[in-house]
Amino acid sequence: MHPEKIQAFVLSTLDYGDSDRIVSLFTLEHGLIKAFARGAKKSRKRFGAALETFARIDAHVRLKNGLSGIQQAEIQNIYPRIRTDLAGIAHALYACELVEALTPEGHPLPRLYRLHAAYLDRLEAEKPAESDRRFFEINLLNILGYRPSLESCARCNSPFTESVALLQENGDLTCRSCTTGGRPLTAASLRFLSSCLGTGKFGLIILPSEIRAEVGNLLDNAVAVHADKRLKSLEFLRQVSE
Ligand SMILES: [Zn+2]
Repeated sequence: MHPEKIQAFVLSTLDYGDSDRIVSLFTLEHGLIKAFARGAKKSRKRFGAALETFARIDAHVRLKNGLSGIQQAEIQNIYPRIRTDLAGIAHALYACELVEALTPEGHPLPRLYRLHAAYLDRLEAEKPAESDRRFFEINLLNILGYRPSLESCARCNSPFTESVALLQENGDLTCRSCTTGGRPLTAASLRFLSSCLGTGKFGLIILPSEIRAEVGNLLDNAVAVHADKRLKSLEFLRQVSE
């Protein structure tokens, strides 16, 4: 089989032996794939510095179930500005780990690819902001079908209107008639999250400080429910965000 030309983000890398590297790639064409890069640690000619986490690359890949093979890779964007700033690095690593943890292998997700690209472009252009991180998370959850219903109760389906919704441990939002347990979420938070879904652009919606904690809670909870492991980059992100 001929190698196929693909566009991808490097989500994570793992050194293998003295000279090889295994990389997780989020590709435009095939979604998440794992690939083996023979000689990647030594052969600067074939790979240069392309196989770095959160680099955007063009690559020639021999696709296989399980582990594909990368023949060659070329950098499209290494995001040099992000790499000069610890907070930027933390946010970019988190975005990559989130995509890798929540995305099934081998399913093309072009909308998520574009969201990821837009977020890294935003981090390259602007200082990391909580508004942008939360915008990325709710849209990612939405694309993957993991977003809780923001309009109506997960149990009885009655609309939330101006009433307070309650966040349950499984990530569902419920109304007060169904249960009194859970953490309250105000209508302002629901409106913020809905408006994040209504525009495809970073920077248009700002997270008001009075609902930061609530919105953060809901999204952190939703991510934890759907990621099957603790995200390593989250700790780093919390340290640099304080
Ligand atoms: Zn209900």
